Amino acid sequence: MNAQDNASSNKSQSIDYSAFKADKVKMDKKIDSLIALMTLEEKLGQLNLPSSGDITTGQSKSSDVATKIKEGKIGGLFNIKSVEKIKEVQKIAVEESRLKIPLLFGMDVIHGYETTFPIPLGLSTSWDMPLIQETARIAAQEASADGINWTFSPMVDISRDPRWGRVSEGNGEDPYLGGEIAKAMVHGYQGDDLSKNNTILSTVKHFALYGASEAGRDYNTVDMSRIRMYNDYFPPYKAAIDAGVGSVMASFNEVDGIPATGNKWLLTDVLRSQWGFSGFLVTDYTGINEMIDHGMGDLQAVSALALNAGVDMDMVGEGFVSTLKKSLDEDKVSIEKVDASVRRILESKYELGLFEDPYRYIDVNRAKSEIFTSENRAFARKVASQSMVLLKNENNLLPIKKSEIIAVIGPLANTSENMAGTWSVATPQDKSISVLQGIKEVVGSSGSVLYAKGSNLSYDKGLEERGTMFGKEIPRDGRSDEELLKEAIAIASKANVIIAAIGESAELSGESSSRTNISIPQAQKDLLQALLKTGKPVILVLFNGRPLVLTEENETVPAILDVWFAGTEAGYAIADVLFGDVNPSAKITATFPRSVGQIPIYYSHKNTGRPLSNSEGKFEKFRSNYIDERNEPLYPFGYGLSYTNFKYDNLKLSSDQLKENESLEVSVTVQNTGNYDGKEIVQLYIRDLVGSVTRPVKQLKGFQKIFLKKGETKIVTFKLTVEDLKFYNYDLDFVAESGDFEVFVGTNSNETLKTKFELVK
Ligand code: BGC
Repeated sequence: MNAQDNASSNKSQSIDYSAFKADKVKMDKKIDSLIALMTLEEKLGQLNLPSSGDITTGQSKSSDVATKIKEGKIGGLFNIKSVEKIKEVQKIAVEESRLKIPLLFGMDVIHGYETTFPIPLGLSTSWDMPLIQETARIAAQEASADGINWTFSPMVDISRDPRWGRVSEGNGEDPYLGGEIAKAMVHGYQGDDLSKNNTILSTVKHFALYGASEAGRDYNTVDMSRIRMYNDYFPPYKAAIDAGVGSVMASFNEVDGIPATGNKWLLTDVLRSQWGFSGFLVTDYTGINEMIDHGMGDLQAVSALALNAGVDMDMVGEGFVSTLKKSLDEDKVSIEKVDASVRRILESKYELGLFEDPYRYIDVNRAKSEIFTSENRAFARKVASQSMVLLKNENNLLPIKKSEIIAVIGPLANTSENMAGTWSVATPQDKSISVLQGIKEVVGSSGSVLYAKGSNLSYDKGLEERGTMFGKEIPRDGRSDEELLKEAIAIASKANVIIAAIGESAELSGESSSRTNISIPQAQKDLLQALLKTGKPVILVLFNGRPLVLTEENETVPAILDVWFAGTEAGYAIADVLFGDVNPSAKITATFPRSVGQIPIYYSHKNTGRPLSNSEGKFEKFRSNYIDERNEPLYPFGYGLSYTNFKYDNLKLSSDQLKENESLEVSVTVQNTGNYDGKEIVQLYIRDLVGSVTRPVKQLKGFQKIFLKKGETKIVTFKLTVEDLKFYNYDLDFVAESGDFEVFVGTNSNETLKTKFELVK
């Protein structure tokens, strides 16, 4: 009866990373001899990471970048796509430069390479670590087949502010879940041996706290107590370090009044001294130069600041190559610092196996046979369906039958280009499966599928342009809003079920896509209300790169399926869920507010000295609440429905005390009481009732994704140890304090069973 046997583990697979460390003695010998031969210019060259610019195949030799490579002024290149080009460029480095040092080739392989998986926020809602790890492994396999040996992923910035567009690139609001995902991703990219030709170097980013930018405005100031950093925002970065991530990217924001890129406490004391990171640290895009605008001095000053703080590699800005010589002459930096950074970069190249074979990742045959394969796409379809969250399903409207007359309506219905979402630089955008295509193909001759656009993305042309950049156009329809609506109503009236494919376009979230209004754009809201007025059943298939405010939709639309941006196979996966071939099981990893005014909003908040005394959310004067809105979110962290129902019962502890070096078993009975087989993500939270500092009202400490056949019952067991109860106290010591704890187990952070135990030390 114990579910643990066939449940997906709540911990990601642990791999012994000592295994892939290269033979240190041999490596040191090679690198010592190289460093001894290098001129200062060549050393600074290793610290330089330009973007590839517009290198074209066959002409790379004559490019500006080629000259610099020949002169040893470049350590790696990024944004260069295709194995042929990479081969040409690597050849220049290893045949025409004096020391023949191979280059790193980096890229933002964020959620897949050509085969694209759901955006990270969507992927995180699967809570499925083996699945997530496999997406990174496939991404590494495809990228490495195309010449890439280094990815700028995973992005693990905790964010509790959905106005920030980059919540789409992260794993939501929770440090524990974020840490598990960080490990899974790093293991997926790097595997158990970095020198294999299908594993690549991973970068955890953006270090640190980037997701806490004030007002959700990208690149904005961050100001946070250290206790919050350590308890809530640092854990996923640290988890990636513990998993052996090879590189770290500094963030754009400031930390404690000093930009992260120049913050020695962050980049050296925390990262290297406290956490033992031994890989190399790269800046974000022009991160050094931006310290001039932060107000930290001129290019020479900020470049020296960055090197002295712990930066090894300068992305794009060329501050290191252009100023460090002068700073050395003026004793503002030391050659030991420069050498240490050079060494770290050469070590990574060594560990990737590039000194042994600079063409290790360059195999034209692999590029032809291992990228965008039907096998990878089939896996992407499966993953996509695991990332879709059923937010509402009144009267079991879903799943629907393939034999219906289905009207697919909305500006997101017929756009392949928007399915992969933000940061999908390598994907062939026009090859993604749109909702319309997916539904049509899955329905086949069983039913009929009608289509109308219904509205433009937004009434606001400017917003529409900004939200559809990088080839992700949703061409503006020449007809008037009234005409579009009229056509949609006419089509809808011929159908017996309406699928409204609406929400955000791909670029309405992502970098530099912060929003103050996080509702569905008004043009589409109006379309949705008009469709509802037809009286036909309406299913909202929602596209979004962030939690949206869906208060009105939640009240008026009978069924809502959140599909995020599900990747290459989005349309098929959406159809799989709509028609019940897959029973949805995903659960949100970031709270959905009722109103923008509630932001920042997260389940793991503190109690305050004036919490509400009623559980119905009624206003209470002089308590911590709003006069015009409830405190509770619309959908809490961990929430998501299924086509079946799960009943939780019998929460039990193996003891009412937990002692040092012992463990406590927490068990609960979960029964599938509905009419479908299905997966459930069983979540365990704790609350430390009394502490030397205030503690959150709930904290996730475990989860298991289990499969239950209809009618089946399982006992799910978790183990708690003292380690799970630890937190950073006022002195930033990681401790567990004796006293009473509550344990909650349930289907989301709000609906749980509860019991209690005491930690005795
Ligand atoms: C982003 C990074 C990204 C880098 C390189 C920056 O603008 O913040 O996440 O890795 O560009 O493309």
